[in-house]
Amino acid sequence: MDTENARRQLLLLQEKMSAYNHAMGLISYDGETTAPAGTAANRAHALGILSEIVYELATGRETVALLEELDCRKEALSQREKRMVYLLLKDIRFMQKIPVSEYVAYEKFIVESQDVWYSAKKNDDFASFMPYLEKMFAYRKRFAGYAAPDADPYDFWLNEYEPGLNKKTCDAFFSVLRDRLVPLIRACGEKEPVSDECLKGDFPEDKQAQLAVWLMKTMGLDPGHVGLSTTEHPFTTGLGSHLDERITTHYHREDVSSSMYSVIHEGGHALYDTGSDDDLAYTVLDGGVSMGIHESQSRFYENILGRSKPFIRFLYPKLLELFPEHFRRFAWEDVYRAVNRVQPSLIRTEADEVTYCLHVMIRYELEKSIMADALAVADLPQAWNALYKQYLGINVPCDRQGVLQDSHWSFGAVGYFPSYALGSAYGAQFLEKMKQTVDVDGALEKGCFAPINEWNRHRIWRFGSLLTPAQVLENALGEPFDPTCYLRYLEGKCAEIYVLPGRKGPDA
Ligand SMILES: [Zn+2]
Repeated sequence: MDTENARRQLLLLQEKMSAYNHAMGLISYDGETTAPAGTAANRAHALGILSEIVYELATGRETVALLEELDCRKEALSQREKRMVYLLLKDIRFMQKIPVSEYVAYEKFIVESQDVWYSAKKNDDFASFMPYLEKMFAYRKRFAGYAAPDADPYDFWLNEYEPGLNKKTCDAFFSVLRDRLVPLIRACGEKEPVSDECLKGDFPEDKQAQLAVWLMKTMGLDPGHVGLSTTEHPFTTGLGSHLDERITTHYHREDVSSSMYSVIHEGGHALYDTGSDDDLAYTVLDGGVSMGIHESQSRFYENILGRSKPFIRFLYPKLLELFPEHFRRFAWEDVYRAVNRVQPSLIRTEADEVTYCLHVMIRYELEKSIMADALAVADLPQAWNALYKQYLGINVPCDRQGVLQDSHWSFGAVGYFPSYALGSAYGAQFLEKMKQTVDVDGALEKGCFAPINEWNRHRIWRFGSLLTPAQVLENALGEPFDPTCYLRYLEGKCAEIYVLPGRKGPDA
């Protein structure tokens, strides 16, 4: 095959893959959103057949021959084509190292494990989930061994979720965070508690839905390409390409902030994905590059922008318009303080900005110990509770609100958690850099996201997965990643909310 023809085949292969992924994604999305309750087996049937076709398409002789041929003729390829071949071959080589029978057994095991986790959480019954969790960690150790026999298994998985990450870099990152966050949380705890009364009340769902649509428009999401639905756990998914993105939220009638921040968080993911250059559509380069960079965008919009003073000042009249009876009793300053209050709590997804990373760090330390055989899964609940006491000073009353709260381990996502904390820290440094050329506060005060989005689009979004996470950071920052930016940002925020010594108090 001549090189021109091989290049055409390369694009054709990715178009086919994205069409299958589109169909499978839509089937799953339907299951999560509108499908009737008794239809799961029907979807599993279709998904089983489609995933087998995709596996064959990806690992078939013809595909491997094409990619290996292109890999040998690298010098004739563009930067984009080289990256496509690299990413496709990386996945295929991983799949090929796992015995097919084990791969299929594992796929089935995930479905069962998630199901058992779901009931175990509901019934607060860790013992029923324990054998599955033991098996899951064993699978992850074994798969890492197949893929990279000489590497540490946990390092292997950290690098899979955030290329470039390993235990050494994670340890260094978390120790910087721990040394300053633990005393900071304690200092806030010694101050007069901040009330979140203004966020609690009775907020009808239709009004919250209006707020969600307004927020999406304000953030600059294109309603022609980004849809909104309701699910129990909010998420974002792309269908086929970055031209069709779906986000979801959940409405808690008694708490207006829950859906509000879910929409802004998922909206941040959607902005990143839909910001890929249009000619990346239907290729493996379309959409965000890693979980860390993805979370840097979602958490940037949710927290750094969404909980900022100028944005709350802009948001308040809308809250007053939608819920006049309730918000008449409060000022925008009350909302600002309430959405930024620091309160050690049990549940990661509901944690405030300051305690959030400690929730992540606890999971990181536990995963690391289990993967190194230094902690048995049977001892996980006690170890979990001890770390919550040590870092957050709270007692965990039950496993449902403790070790069973997250779904990640039930579907094998071991090594995923650190990307949440890393992403949060990247975001703070993006802000410092952005402020050098963009009047961020001035834009937020007017609810005008355009210059902020433009900065992100130009430096981060448009590349999709063309650049590695390290290249994205270098491109956006022009300097090495520095987690102390994030600490400075959090300390500044706390000083304002809690009037800590050495900093000026709230100016409102
Ligand atoms: Zn997210």
